[in-house]
Amino acid sequence: MTTDSRLLYSQLPATDRLLRDSAFQPLLDAYGHTRVVNTLRAMQEAARLAIRERQALPSWCDDWAAAAADRLARGSQSALRPVFNLTGTVLHTNLGRALQAEEAVEAVARAMRSPVTLEYDAEGGERGHRDRALAELLCELTGAEDACIVNNNAAAVLLMLAALGAGKEVIVSRGELVEIGGAFRIPDVMRQAGCQLVEVGTTNRTHLRDYLDAVGEQTALLMKVHTSNYQIEGFTKAVEAAELAQASTLPVIVDLGSGSLIDLSQYGLPKEPMPQEALAAGASLVSFSGDKLPGGPQAGIIVGKKSLIAALQKHPLKRALRADKMTLAALDATLRLYLHPEKLAERLPTLRLLTRQASDINEQAQRLRPALEARYGDEFQIDVTPCLSQIGSGSLPVDRLPGAALTFTPRDGRGGRLEALAARWRRLPVPVIGRVGDGRLWLDLRCLEDEAGLMEMLLQ
Ligand SMILES: *Cc1c(COP(=O)(O)O)cnc(C)c1O
Repeated sequence: MTTDSRLLYSQLPATDRLLRDSAFQPLLDAYGHTRVVNTLRAMQEAARLAIRERQALPSWCDDWAAAAADRLARGSQSALRPVFNLTGTVLHTNLGRALQAEEAVEAVARAMRSPVTLEYDAEGGERGHRDRALAELLCELTGAEDACIVNNNAAAVLLMLAALGAGKEVIVSRGELVEIGGAFRIPDVMRQAGCQLVEVGTTNRTHLRDYLDAVGEQTALLMKVHTSNYQIEGFTKAVEAAELAQASTLPVIVDLGSGSLIDLSQYGLPKEPMPQEALAAGASLVSFSGDKLPGGPQAGIIVGKKSLIAALQKHPLKRALRADKMTLAALDATLRLYLHPEKLAERLPTLRLLTRQASDINEQAQRLRPALEARYGDEFQIDVTPCLSQIGSGSLPVDRLPGAALTFTPRDGRGGRLEALAARWRRLPVPVIGRVGDGRLWLDLRCLEDEAGLMEMLLQ
C-alpha cells in the first residue's frame, strides 16, 4: 500500500462516529438504524474500491450525511413510480394500460381493508362463487348467459382452449395467427393448451368453405382472433363469426383482444368490435382484456354460453388463473359505470382521454408554452404542433386521434441534446415520458390531466 492510499483510507470516517453526528439524526428517525448502518457500510465499501482503483476518494465523501440521504431516498422509491405519460399512447402497456376510475380505486381500497363477500353469498349465508356477482353484471351489459373472469386475456384464451379443445383440433384462419407484444402467439398458446392447430385459408383470404372442408371428427372448435395490432388491406376476405355459427354446429370462440363494451363511434371515435355484437352474431364464447378499451383493471373476461362457461369454471386451470379480490373489486366498480352511459366519458379515464378534442389539447399546449419557453427557450425552439395520438394496446392500429404536442427542437440542431433532455426528464421525481422523432422531443398532451404537477417537474 502506498503512503498516499494509506492517508486516504485514514480519512474514511468510522460508522459509529457518523451515527453520532447530528446530521444523521433525521436519517435514523426516517429510515431506522438497520437501514442507515447498511447504507453506510455500502458507502464505505464504494469508497475503498475507489481508493484501490483510482487512488482517490469519490467526491461525495465531502459530505457523508448528504450522500447517505441521497442513497436512502433513492432506495426508498417504489418499484411502481407514477410518471407523466406524454407518449401519445393512451393505453400504454409498459406504463400500466388503463388508468382506473375513482370509483374503482375506492372499491379496491375497501376490498383491501375489510373482509369481503368474495366467495360468500351474504343472503344465503353459504359459500358462493367468486365470479358470480360480476357475471350477472357482464350478462346485463353484453347479453351473455354467463361469464368467467381470469388474470388477463392471454389466460382467457388459454383456458378456453384447454377446457374445450385439449387433445382435439381447433380451426383458425392463417390471416389471424397473431402475435401480441410480450410473446403471446396463437400457435404457441394452442400448443400449451394441448390443442392441435389446423390452419386454413391464406394470409389475405379465407373462405367459409376453407373452414368447413377442414372440419373432421377431431374438430372441437372454430376460432376467430381479432387482428388487433395489424390490418390486412387490399385483396382480402375473412369469414365473420356469424357465418361460421350459421354454417356449423361446432362452438365458435372469439378472441376479441380489446373488446369495447360501448359503440365508440357515438363519440366520433373509430368503432372497435364489441363482445355483445359477437355474441349476437352467434359466437359461443368471446374473450377480451379488462385493461384495454373497457378501461378497468388487468383481467381476462370471457362471456358466452352457460354450459361452456361451466366447463371453464370446472377446469383445474381456472383455479391457477383466477382473478384476485382487488381485481374483481376494480372490475365490478368499472362495469357499474357502464350502467350510467351518460356519465361514462366523464368518469372512465380511458374514455375521457380518448374523447378529448384536439382544440382542447391545443389550448392546453398554448397555455403551458410560455413558461416552458422561459425555462428552455435558450437551447430549444418550443412549438405547439398538431399530432396524432394512438389508443394503444393493439386497439385500432391504423386509426389515429388528432391532438397537439409541445415539441422541443434543439436550436443548434444537435440530436444529442434531445436524448440528454429526454434522459433528464426521465430522472425527475415524477418522470416525464415523451417521445423523440423527426428531430424533436414530443410531449403529446392528450393524457395530461395534472397540468400543475407537470409544470412543477419541468420548471424545477
Ligand atoms: C391484447 C390481446 C391479447 C392479450 O391480452 P392480455 O390481456 O394482454 O393478456 C390476446 N389477444 C388479442 C387479440 C389481443 O389484442
